[in-house]
Amino acid sequence: MLLRAVRGDITEADVDVVVNAANPGLLGGGGVDGAIHAAGGPEILAECRALKAGLPGGRLPRGRAVATTAGRLPARWVVHTAGPIWSADQDRSAVLRSCCTESLRVADGLGARSVAFPAISAGVYGWPLADAAVQAVAGVRAVEVQHVQEVRFVLFDDRALAAFEAALTG
Ligand code: ADP
Repeated sequence: MLLRAVRGDITEADVDVVVNAANPGLLGGGGVDGAIHAAGGPEILAECRALKAGLPGGRLPRGRAVATTAGRLPARWVVHTAGPIWSADQDRSAVLRSCCTESLRVADGLGARSVAFPAISAGVYGWPLADAAVQAVAGVRAVEVQHVQEVRFVLFDDRALAAFEAALTG
């Protein structure tokens, strides 16, 4: 499995699976979540609604992942995961690693060969970028894949790209 980091807009990634930094409510939000729903169209939200109805309390636990189709995106599926909110008092890094591990497992179970990840929790959820990158890379490396050949971290700006490049080489 090849791991790499590129700069770009994840909604345009030519991969089998795009991972969405969603929230437990699963009905869309800002940041990358909003961009994926805006570009992918209403089909993704309709599937999220159906999935949500089957979840206890209508909520996706943080650190878990579920899949929908990808609507109008170039990808075939979107895997939605809810990252942890950064806390200075509490170590929630296992949850962040779990987001990446579980998302990659779900993607591999679908038979995906390529998977794009955004910088989960590093936006509105406030996770320090350098550590978000370290946890994401560790979470991905923990998976023994059967189908996935490439994991591509697609970062929105140079700062995020540099953080993931450092985590991949460090
Ligand atoms: P979270 O709520 O998990 O923190 P955000 O969506 O707020 O998620 O931010 C996660 C990361 O995704 C941030 O680094 C943000 O800059 C980035 N991002 C936002 N839009 C896109 C996009 N279209 N493609 C790739 N990354 C994006």
